[in-house]
Order: sequence, then structure tokens, then C-alpha cells
Amino acid sequence: MMSSKYSKVLILGSGPAGLTASIYAARANLHPVLVHGLQPGGQMTITTDVENYPGFADVVQGPWLMEQMKRQATAVGTDMVTDIITEVDFTQRPFVCVGDSGGHYQGESLVITTGAQARWLGLESEERYQGFGVSACATCDGFFFRGKTVAVVGGGNTAVEEALFLTNFASKVWLIHRRDELRAEKMLQDRLFANDKVEVIWNHRVEEILGGTDPKVVTGVQLRNIHDGVMRNVPVDGLFVAIGHTPNTSLFRGHLEMDQEGYINTESGSTRTSISGVFAAGDVQDKIYRQAVTAAGSGCMAALEAEKYLASRDSAQAAE
Ligand code: NDP
Repeated sequence: MMSSKYSKVLILGSGPAGLTASIYAARANLHPVLVHGLQPGGQMTITTDVENYPGFADVVQGPWLMEQMKRQATAVGTDMVTDIITEVDFTQRPFVCVGDSGGHYQGESLVITTGAQARWLGLESEERYQGFGVSACATCDGFFFRGKTVAVVGGGNTAVEEALFLTNFASKVWLIHRRDELRAEKMLQDRLFANDKVEVIWNHRVEEILGGTDPKVVTGVQLRNIHDGVMRNVPVDGLFVAIGHTPNTSLFRGHLEMDQEGYINTESGSTRTSISGVFAAGDVQDKIYRQAVTAAGSGCMAALEAEKYLASRDSAQAAE
């Protein structure tokens, strides 16, 4: 349903950054409006075990944690709206965001927490088999590979976590990495190397995903050794791509300053962007830490900075 909303603090995105910003803004009596898209809760909703979010001695599930944050945000007075913002106008005050429902959202200040999304290898065969054995989410699709052989590509925390998660279903998990060392945390690496179901293929790139057309299934991956160029085929039933993320910032291109990779530039030690009154928090501006807890922390900063911005703007207007 089309809606038009005005708020002192308009928040885009509903991951840990957006929800924390909304909790702080609501508790400051700023009556925030939070607009979220089709994946409320963001990347955490496609995570399983969360062991590093402070406050929980026992393992919690990502979707559960986000549900708790959402309930807290709503309980303190956040107005949550589902819409996909397709246009922004930062040249006028209040700022205007337009949704694909036709909804207009005005904000005296704006907090952008639109996060990031999984990156793909860019192979034509990868696209062809997406949903037919190629996936970027072990949590979502691991179940389909019970007793089968799968491969994960990547060498970061995500790749290692996905490989370990897949051992719950698959009989064999290959981890394919383009270098000879992983960038994942040591603790995760230790767990990976200790797991009998996992075998790492070092120094190889995925050149092609092999499979049939009728039925459309993955049957293997073609790999190239990065040192000698020698090709080898590894039979697998599925491939999980876990090679990092791209920030969801295309909407803000030309409106806000960004770095080469599309992350929104914020001032050091702040969530302030290149436009006064527009703040950015979480993965959309952070390519270094990218943790739920750091996203939540920067969401808190954004709300406090928005509050300060509104107060100083109001007192400046009153003095005129
Ligand atoms: P990262 O950027 O950390 O790692 C991406 C991996 O993919 C790297 O090993 C990289 O190789 C490899 N890669 C990138 N592009 C390609 C390509 N085209 N072909 C083959 N391999 C490629 O991403 P992650 O998603 O793993 O993690 C992102 C952030 O989130 C990190 O800060 C991580 O610590 C954090 N995270 C934390 C978790 C936790 O604490 N529980 C869980 C998941 C993520 P190379 O190493 O050679 O660059």
C-alpha cells in the first residue's frame, strides 16, 4: 500500500545498524520511520549460529537475534514500513526518498543502513546453475545436499563458516581457495582443518561450473591452478560461492561520496557522510569490520549524531 511519511529521523535498512539506530532515535523521542526492503533483518537472517554477539552466553541464531532487535525497535516506538526505495533527493530539506510502491518518505535527517550483499564469481555457468546447485547461502540451501559432495569457494570467515555448516549435511566438502592461506579467523581455521569431511584445494580458481541441462544439475567444477595453469575437474553436486560482499549503494551513486568499491564515505570516527544531515552506518560504509556488533555500534552513533544535528539545526533556526 502506498504510504507517505514524515519523520525527524528516516532510516533505510533493517539490519543491526538500522534497528539499533531506530532504537536510539525512538528513545530520544524522535519518532523514527524505518523503511526496509524484502529481506528484513538483512544478512543476519541468512546466518545460523551467532557466537560473538555480546550478551548471549549460549549460541543464538541470526534470524532470532534480528527478530529480537526488531521487536525492541517496535516496542520503543519505531514506525516500520516495507518498501523498496528507488529514488532519493538530497537537494531539498526535508530529504525525500521515494519507494516503488509510490510512497514518499521525508526525513529531516537520514540514516542509511542498507548493508551489503554476496558477491558472485561472474561466470556464465554460475548464473545458469543458480538455484540448481549454485548458491551463495549454505544456510538456505545446505539442506538439499544431504549425503552429497559440495564445494565452497573463498577463504574468508564466510567461506569457512559455510564449509563447516555444510558438513552437517554433505558427506564431503571441498574448500577452494585462490591462495595458499586463508584470511578467516584462526579459531575457524582450526575447526575447519580438524573436520574430516573438509578438504582444502589451495591455489586454484573456479573456471567453470560443469553440469547437465536435462535435468539441470551441477556435476562438477573446473579449476585452474594459479601457478602452473593446469586444469582439473572436481566432481561436486553443488557449489557455494562465499567470496565477499558488495555494498547496497547504487541508489546513492551521484548523491553521496563513495570509495572505488561503492562504500559510502564517512568522516573518521563518525557516521557523517558528504551531505550534512545524512548519516551512514553498518556494512554500507564499513568494509573492514563488517560484524553485527560493529554495525549495531555504528547505528547507535548515527542516531546520536542525527539527534545532535537536529538539535543544533533547530537552535540555529531559533536564533535567526
Ligand atoms: P572476505 O572479504 O573476508 O573474504 C572473501 C574471500 O573470497 C577471500 O578469501 C578472497 O580471497 C576470496 N575471493 C574474493 N574474490 C574472489 C574471486 N573472484 N575468486 C575467488 N576467490 C575470491 O569476505 P567474507 O564474506 O568472508 O567476510 C566479510 C567480513 O565479514 C569479514 O570482515 C569477516 O571477518 C566478517 N565475517 C565474520 C563472521 C563472524 O565473525 N562469525 C562470519 C562471516 C563474515 P583472498 O583471501 O585471496 O583475497
